[in-house]
Amino acid sequence: MNNSPGQLIVLAGPSGAGKTTLAHHLVERFEFTAFSVSTTTRPLRGSEIEGVDYFFVSREEFRRRIESGYFLEYAEVHGHLYGTSRELVAEEISRGGTVILDIDVQGALQIKEAFPASILIFILPPSPGVLSGRLSSRNTDDPEVVQRRMEMAAWEIRWIGSFDYYLCNSRLEDSLLNVESILRGCRLKMVNTSFPQEVIAFTPDRFAGLEHWHGRRVIVTSGPTREALDRVRYISNRSSGRMGCSMAMAFRDAGADVLFISGPACISHPSGVDTVPVETAQEMLDALVSEVEKADLLVMAAAVSDFRPSAFHDGKTERSGTLRIELEATPDILSELDRTMDNMCPVMAFALEFGPDGEKRALGKMKRKGAAAIFYNPGDAPGTGMEASSNQGKLFFSDGSYVEVKRSSKRYIAELLTAAMGRYFMKGNES
Ligand code: 5GP
Repeated sequence: MNNSPGQLIVLAGPSGAGKTTLAHHLVERFEFTAFSVSTTTRPLRGSEIEGVDYFFVSREEFRRRIESGYFLEYAEVHGHLYGTSRELVAEEISRGGTVILDIDVQGALQIKEAFPASILIFILPPSPGVLSGRLSSRNTDDPEVVQRRMEMAAWEIRWIGSFDYYLCNSRLEDSLLNVESILRGCRLKMVNTSFPQEVIAFTPDRFAGLEHWHGRRVIVTSGPTREALDRVRYISNRSSGRMGCSMAMAFRDAGADVLFISGPACISHPSGVDTVPVETAQEMLDALVSEVEKADLLVMAAAVSDFRPSAFHDGKTERSGTLRIELEATPDILSELDRTMDNMCPVMAFALEFGPDGEKRALGKMKRKGAAAIFYNPGDAPGTGMEASSNQGKLFFSDGSYVEVKRSSKRYIAELLTAAMGRYFMKGNES
């Protein structure tokens, strides 16, 4: 069992680019790494082995599986259907493993949409001539098939800009090193790795309480929300989503089962958590309604846009003269949840406040919202708050106690807050 969260690495690009060789190399080279064996309707080729290269099924069986939700993604490639099993991938990821997918570009784009934390690597053949030579020398496909694959290659290459990395597979030794470097880099990235235990060893008392979250269900809201004025414009705020992401990662690393509901933030979503992307305050509320009763804690780190245009223009508003926009308040998520739920879980709120009365306003907000705790961060402290990578403030609890957090990185602060919340609940303080 691996302690870091699971990861999805997708190798895509034209067939004949060399994806399969690179994918198998990664599986051999790295621990906790598995190859996702796809299902296809294409007939078995040459020396291929059922269950090793592919699971070969009929078109009818493939259709049945699409309907039953068996596939995480699927696509028609060169006249045959190919798909990735949802269960095989989920199993590996839940064990903290890395799953390598060798799929086509359509499938890769579907994966990125469903799992923004997945890493897409485009494998580019060095030239059309080399690709056509490789496809012809396989001796498994006739010239028309090779021609179709070349046309498909030109289409797939158009999508290279949607990938996180690319490598041009001209010299195999270089490509093997490059793909290894990408995987190593991904594994060391703070959003992908668990919080370093070595850090906790420096000040263990501050992190006491993290153990409380093992196996608990925690919902974290994050990022800004956006409220549309017309099809292209919106009002929002400057939230980067860093604090919410960091909270999700801290609970994830403490062993919680995290549901991450995120507005359109500018930083990558954490891996190893279930993510629900939302846009507006109303969508955030809707995503929470069916979930809060099952949760042990709701962490409201999102910076909801408090206002929305009263009217939506279905098009692009022309630029001319003065535009008056009437705004109305967006739904107050906590009050709405409180009003409609019988069994509301405890809430940890966040308050970014300005001026000398900031602390008082944060305490008022905690009381008004019936929150178990609130993290007050002074918006006027230099280098902290929205858009910044660091923060500072005080975590107040409803029993009157508090923990002060000096300026540090948001990721570090998230660990301290998660631990402090754990200690609070371990003392038997439930709201
Ligand atoms: P081949 O028939 O040459 O094995 O594969 C044809 C193409 O289908 C390759 O680009 C391969 O990566 C892609 N492919 C294989 N498995 C899957 C899958 O599960 N999903 C998708 N979308 N494409 C796949």
